[in-house]
Amino acid sequence: MASIPKIPFNVPCNVGGELRYIAEAINGNQKISGDGPFTKRCSEFFQHRYAVAKAVLTTSCTDALEMAGLLLNLKPGDEVIVPSFTFVSSANAFALRGARLVFVDSREDEPNVDVNRIAEVITPKTKAIIAVHYAGFACAMDEITTLAQSRHVDVVEDAAQAVESFYRGRRLGTIGRFGTLSFHETKNLICGEGGLLFVNRQEDVKRTEIIREKGTNRTAFFRGEIAKYSWVDLGSSFLPSELNAAYLFGQLESIDLIQNRRVEIYNRYCACLKVLEDQGKALLPVVPNGATINGHLFYLLCPNLSVRTQLIDFLKSQNIHATFHYVPLHSSEYFSEFHDGRVLKNCDRYSEQLVRLPLFFAMTDEMVDIVCSEVLKFFSQV
Ligand SMILES: *Cc1c(COP(=O)(O)O)cnc(C)c1O
Repeated sequence: MASIPKIPFNVPCNVGGELRYIAEAINGNQKISGDGPFTKRCSEFFQHRYAVAKAVLTTSCTDALEMAGLLLNLKPGDEVIVPSFTFVSSANAFALRGARLVFVDSREDEPNVDVNRIAEVITPKTKAIIAVHYAGFACAMDEITTLAQSRHVDVVEDAAQAVESFYRGRRLGTIGRFGTLSFHETKNLICGEGGLLFVNRQEDVKRTEIIREKGTNRTAFFRGEIAKYSWVDLGSSFLPSELNAAYLFGQLESIDLIQNRRVEIYNRYCACLKVLEDQGKALLPVVPNGATINGHLFYLLCPNLSVRTQLIDFLKSQNIHATFHYVPLHSSEYFSEFHDGRVLKNCDRYSEQLVRLPLFFAMTDEMVDIVCSEVLKFFSQV
């Protein structure tokens, strides 16, 4: 039997400079805890490129979202609107503050949140809307922003998957009051575990520094602005070590190389698999109005759960690792007893029909072509 080389779902990206910078962090007699020279270089990189009031590195995107929950002063009884089709951290971060989560459905034509569904559940208790840019594709931010402003509600962008993606010319993560990125090994830019918080209003900068430094004013102390530092607010330890920041800086130096290659792979998948759409066998991703492609992930929508399961099993038998995405949060084991019973049918459909194909920086054109030919072979038989 002709054997196909094993094609994993993801291989952590390594472009070459990472190890050199980690060695520099260790050998340079510099500190290796948080907020040393590499953390500074990474945060300045984003602050300039994204033109935000402040960009701070965190230990994960989850932690950046938890910081947003603290910065919004969420209290028990406050309501936060979250898409159900997302990673658990988009919700957990706000549940941890005691907020009541209200899950809403995806759009029919793409997995991002449906703004009309947000409008239906917004109440005077609503404090925040979490906009998750699925697959790096922008949510309808104009509509979300207009709705949020008219109801005096804040917007947090979970841009974990959306680094270097835009909405009508604006970078994702910089449009809401806060935005977050992830540098988990499955994302476009990585450092093992890591994240970033965009603070888009000057008035939030000071408290951001305090919350990130365990509730102390140590950042101002290190800048020489105060004589000693002490406990001034709630906070936690959200600083990544310099070793992580050094790895990340190696990636940032090659950001265009990484992004261009991922977008190439994404486009190659589209070109090879478009025929499935023409034949009515599966759907390809829809790029929403005003959105851009950042090559974070490539997915297909199968006609139903059974076909999706068979496709994943078939690819596995051919040594190719494909995977589904997101068990809905509103009906999850933890949350279902709190959900108000609304049926979120689009979310359920994406959860059952969506399959993600391998996409990683080191993936060769040949590997993409192998995956495509196996996918086409599968669909020629169903
Ligand atoms: C990956 C991801 C997260 C969590 O990122 P971590 O850095 O692993 O905490 C949160 N939200 C979304 C949408 C993600 O894809």
